[in-house]
Amino acid sequence: MNVSKLIIVLTISIILFSCGEKKEVKQESDLEIIMNDIAKGYVKLVLRTGQYDPDFVDAYYGPQEWKPSGTNLPPDSSAFIELLSISDSLLNELEDLSSYKATELETLRFRNLYKQLLAVKTKIFMLNGSQLPFDQESKGLYDAVSPVYTEDYFQQAIDELNQIVPGKGSIEKRINEFKRKFEIPKGKIEIVFKAALQECRERTSDYITLPPGENFSVEIANNQPWGAYNWYKGNLRSVIQINTDLPKHIGDMVSTAAHEGYPGHHLYNLLLEWNFFMKREWKEFSVYPLFSPQSLIAEGTANYAEEILFSPGERLQFEKEILYPLAGIDTTDAALYYNINQLQKKLGQAATTAAKNYLDGVFNREQTVKWLQKYQLRTKESAEKYVSFIEKYRSYVINYSLGEDMIREFIEKKGGSSNNLARSWELFELLISTPQTPSGLKIN
Ligand SMILES: [Zn+2]
Repeated sequence: MNVSKLIIVLTISIILFSCGEKKEVKQESDLEIIMNDIAKGYVKLVLRTGQYDPDFVDAYYGPQEWKPSGTNLPPDSSAFIELLSISDSLLNELEDLSSYKATELETLRFRNLYKQLLAVKTKIFMLNGSQLPFDQESKGLYDAVSPVYTEDYFQQAIDELNQIVPGKGSIEKRINEFKRKFEIPKGKIEIVFKAALQECRERTSDYITLPPGENFSVEIANNQPWGAYNWYKGNLRSVIQINTDLPKHIGDMVSTAAHEGYPGHHLYNLLLEWNFFMKREWKEFSVYPLFSPQSLIAEGTANYAEEILFSPGERLQFEKEILYPLAGIDTTDAALYYNINQLQKKLGQAATTAAKNYLDGVFNREQTVKWLQKYQLRTKESAEKYVSFIEKYRSYVINYSLGEDMIREFIEKKGGSSNNLARSWELFELLISTPQTPSGLKIN
């Protein structure tokens, strides 16, 4: 289905389903009842949509009887029309509440549910065969569009790296040769990663009260397009998998532990479950549809997480004193390696540019691999792995670098910084323990 057809269907479905009966809100408890009803409808809609794509429902820990039977179903146009109708009814019910004077938290709840519903609609169109241009897809699914970065922007960081990376030959060859010294022996990855997780958890608990009973386990995985993954199981628990298909480097352990664990995905998921599903019975927080705005907040906060764990200098010290000895890696060039990693982070947005060009048909697969080698300084193996990630997750890739930039902008605008970590933590906690939306971050 092309874009204009999509708009026509969207318009017709809005007209058809905007004549429902209006429910009146007289007092606060009425609102709670109506919202919980809409939330229940949303959860069931997400679960039904997930029957057609096993990656859609990333976590579900609500009532088991709401789960439809059957997974991995073939596309079914009439079922999709029905699901679109349900989305429209729920959106209309939310719109009917717009005249109610809501509290700040209620407003966040409405907005979050509304944007999540729009994402489910976009996903249903995609399941039915619609191919959207990259930016429209990301707007529909993640409530955000990534800005365009020129090659000059990346070249600047590459020029800086050129000055400090030792060795001979191209920068791509030199940087990957230099980093080889910092590869963790396969048999030691789990123990080093667990030590990083423990440190991240302790530092996080200095600022955020962790609910009793929260916990995680770590597993080694293989043959996956991702490097690590947090599977949130509900009841305040996660399984964190780390994929050892490609070499793991010592400098990535804190970043990965912060991203997947504390104060990243594990903490974000458990705080939403604890604050809203457990304490308030807001059912929408029993399900996590992966291709939705929630993922931009999730990946953005997870990517940003490592920045607030350590004050300048502390991280390298921790890595040298604890992680390097555990991995049996020499610390001689640790400071240079650390600086190189910090600089290389500036190339994060090159991944989004690669994905956009590849999915919009500007680059073919080979050109995308070459671009990632040139502007992200990846090895060929790592670039190919990343293209497999793009093929599976599509515009999801914007959630990392753009999400991180949006989270940083929000925190810095309100006084957080590396010199005021207490303020950064305060704002970070607000972001991971309330229902935020990407476009809402700009107006709050
Ligand atoms: Zn992540």
